[in-house]
Amino acid sequence: MVCIVPIGRIPRGFVGGASFGKAPVNAVSVVVNAEQIRTKPLDLFKEAKSAVDLTQAPLIVAIGRGIKAPENIPQAEALAKALGGEIAASRPICDEGWLPMERQIGSSGQTVAPKLYLALGISGAIQHVVGMKGARTIVAINKDANAPIFEIADYGVVGDIFEIMPALTEALEKPRARSNTWAHGLAYTLRITMKLEDYKTILYRQEDGSWVAEIPAIPGCYALMDTREAALAELTKVFSMITDEYREKGLKLPADTTEIVNA
Ligand SMILES: Cc1cc2nc3c(=O)[nH]c(=O)nc-3n(C[C@H](O)[C@H](O)[C@H](O)COP(=O)(O)OP(=O)(O)OC[C@H]3O[C@@H](n4cnc5c(N)ncnc54)[C@H](O)[C@@H]3O)c2cc1C
Repeated sequence: MVCIVPIGRIPRGFVGGASFGKAPVNAVSVVVNAEQIRTKPLDLFKEAKSAVDLTQAPLIVAIGRGIKAPENIPQAEALAKALGGEIAASRPICDEGWLPMERQIGSSGQTVAPKLYLALGISGAIQHVVGMKGARTIVAINKDANAPIFEIADYGVVGDIFEIMPALTEALEKPRARSNTWAHGLAYTLRITMKLEDYKTILYRQEDGSWVAEIPAIPGCYALMDTREAALAELTKVFSMITDEYREKGLKLPADTTEIVNA
């Protein structure tokens, strides 16, 4: 049984069916068939996808404002996929909504400690660095040789990410195809960073267009070349020397150094 009274005129003292006011109280019977109910219960709500936990990612490819436009992000994502890593970003990228907030690294984002952190077009502001400085190996690519990110990078490449990203992706997708291209040399370099982390490498282009490959940890070890192909070929040779040194010291290295990253 349902009691219907005019809205706003519930009589004072109306308690459990007893009425003490003057307003009329009409008693009507209501029959509700299940078919008439238009609201249907659905399955219990489940979250579509749990947030990415970048704190557990062993390999992170992070993009900064150097990526310039959201249309360019797939290039970085392809590189992340080729490396088997997660994509992440500096704050401006997430603020713009180009990547979800859960992928932001830094003081107001996630704090990560992957084995390899590849920073693409990220300046290295302190608020970003606090979130990634725990990475075991940091590789930075930035066209500004004075970018602060190079102060904490183990490997720095002064160059244009739009040249390097696609070339590196291509080289990584064919890790066994040996060639002397600079991209392959860079891939080779990246792939041995895990075990050779004592050796910082810097590859940079000078104003006259020549390229320098340098390993400051080995005094006097640098290569000044006309082309980046030559600089990276030289760098690759230097890494071969280092791996030889590892072998001489009795340290075990896989026969194919490109395998080290997976070891
Ligand atoms: C309270 C507070 C909290 C913050 N929290 C965070 C945080 O959690 N995370 C965070 O990241 N930031 C945070 N910030 C912002 C931070 O201060 C920086 O503004 C931000 O990290 C800069 O991002 P960026 O390096 O991508 O951009 P920029 O500083 O603009 O750097 C872009 C870089 O890309 C390089 N570049 C441009 N084009 C190319 C190219 N074609 N190839 C190669 N390199 C190129 C440039 O040389 C430059 O170094 C915070 C700031 C404040 C005030």
